[in-house]
Amino acid sequence: MARYLGPSCKICRREGEKLFLKGTRCSTNKCSFEKRGFSPGQHGKSRKFKSSEFGIQLREKQKVKMIYGILEAQFRNYFKKAEREKGITGENLLIMLERRLDNSVYRLGFAPSRKTARQLVRHRHFTVNDRIVDIPSYLLKKGDVIKVREKSKKLELIHNSMRRIREGKQLPWLSLDKAKLTGVFLDYPRREDIPVNVNESLIVELYSK
Ligand code: SF4
Repeated sequence: MARYLGPSCKICRREGEKLFLKGTRCSTNKCSFEKRGFSPGQHGKSRKFKSSEFGIQLREKQKVKMIYGILEAQFRNYFKKAEREKGITGENLLIMLERRLDNSVYRLGFAPSRKTARQLVRHRHFTVNDRIVDIPSYLLKKGDVIKVREKSKKLELIHNSMRRIREGKQLPWLSLDKAKLTGVFLDYPRREDIPVNVNESLIVELYSK
């Protein structure tokens, strides 16, 4: 299945919530969801979804895929890995998605969105433990150090993105040295610390059928 290339805001409106897919725009009054928080399409305002149990589970999975920018086959692989790990499968799945390098680059504030983070990683702007990593899906381990490469430190995109990060707003599993443009993946996140509005147990139910 190909990556979704349509308008990101349509997805938020369809899901009925802000998924923060567009970076800085999402936190301004330009956000489409703030202006038109109803479903897209001609009859969007009057449309009421009557979803089956399967439909609700499917929507939840699609939502997570859109948030993290993952394709179906890759998502299935994450799920299989999450199942094999100790603990609660749904939580393992979200923790694994949070460990992705592109996600951490976004969470640290080096990029305004996961989509941009993915591009920056592909364009070799980051190192992990002093080695260039250009694989957005690279899974970080405890203690990994993510750095903006010396030659990339002048990138306006990164600096503009960093301005939106306020001191003390970092997530508990990440630490950031703003001056050095360096972040550390301190530990695996706990589910309760991951700020995504997702009912992951619905995804587990869907794949258990
Ligand atoms: Fe969603 Fe608003 Fe961001 Fe568009 S601008 S992706 S509607 S949160």
